[in-house]
Amino acid sequence: MRMKLTFLVVLAALSAGVVAQEPAIRIHAATVLDGTGKVLRNVTIVVQGSKIAAVDATGAGPATYDVGRLAVMPGMIDVHAHLGWHFGADGRYEPRSASPAQEILYSAANSYVTLMAGFTTIQSPGQANDVELRSAIARGVLPGPRILTSIRQLNEGSGTPDEIRDKVRKLKADGADVVKIFASKSIRDGGGQTMTDEQLAAACGEAKAQGLRTMVHAHSPESIKASVNAGCLQIEHGVFANDDVLKLMAAKGVYFDPNIGVVLQNYLRNKPKFLGIGNYNEEGFAYMEKGLAINAAMIKKAVATPGLKLVLGTDAVAGAHGHNADEIVERVKQGNQKPMDAIVSATSLAAESLRLEKTIGTLAPGYEADLIAVDGDPTSDITAVTRVVFVMKGGKVYKHVAAGATHGSHE
Ligand SMILES: [Zn+2]
Repeated sequence: MRMKLTFLVVLAALSAGVVAQEPAIRIHAATVLDGTGKVLRNVTIVVQGSKIAAVDATGAGPATYDVGRLAVMPGMIDVHAHLGWHFGADGRYEPRSASPAQEILYSAANSYVTLMAGFTTIQSPGQANDVELRSAIARGVLPGPRILTSIRQLNEGSGTPDEIRDKVRKLKADGADVVKIFASKSIRDGGGQTMTDEQLAAACGEAKAQGLRTMVHAHSPESIKASVNAGCLQIEHGVFANDDVLKLMAAKGVYFDPNIGVVLQNYLRNKPKFLGIGNYNEEGFAYMEKGLAINAAMIKKAVATPGLKLVLGTDAVAGAHGHNADEIVERVKQGNQKPMDAIVSATSLAAESLRLEKTIGTLAPGYEADLIAVDGDPTSDITAVTRVVFVMKGGKVYKHVAAGATHGSHE
């Protein structure tokens, strides 16, 4: 009896010790955007371990971090970023590095830059070493965003419908979070449909059967329509999306991830670093230059389409990492999207598109403590999202600099 009591006392002491090791972190802010469209004033977010324990509206009690006039919001989510894309030692785009070690280090560097820009989750349309990168970051030993990856891609060369179904099952076995599908050509090659309706139905049908989401690269209206009719869940790019297919996506609840603010601008800004490699020729650049105006018209129509679920994705490639938030700014500027809607598209709605809406993208008790502070109020000045001064992911602070120390994301 006596021994048992001692044992209980020791147990109690041990568990008290565990709690004492992790004191709550309290972040006080005058303005908090919760990610679902609500603004909270003068609140303290209480973080315990990796999660948000409370959002205290009384604002009372001592704060570990008092961000004052800065606005706090959920860590941003980019549903389409290529962390592995990089410029090589000669400063030019390098589709393949000399060694796997170089490849993964470029990915790690881009992960760091992306996290520092306030993006705590990204979805990669896939490269094989994403799997190792995903787990290293998840172990907490490497600073970077949470990663979801397709590992590989499917395209018109992926075989018969049966062969495509096999490939989807193999992706599932290899740990893919999503299936990336190319239903159309690149914008540099005109963007027409490539995969057959049967191939698309096999890819998106089998993915659904395996519990995997699908994201489809599609530029032309016919390739978008074919993808939606094949049961695919998300459309990427959509430069040539017209009213018909915008309405179709809205009606079917398909997520649309147009990339109008970062990727083409980045290619044009860095033209000498890409020109002469693959389809980065003068004709390709001419298509991309024309794409700017086509995108600007398309995004206005997309924003104005009732019920269309626009999610934030950049298609960030070499040179664009860390500039991801420019996409949010440009959707507001070019697309007339309301700032709060643009923020929701990069937080709770993006989380929903990843089926993580109960885990990330919202500041509320029980959610992962992924949160950032930006210098300014993004509801009145959307460029504030490019001035990230504080980054916490999973309860761990990765960045904390004085306001005014950032200069936006443009170099
Ligand atoms: Zn892409």
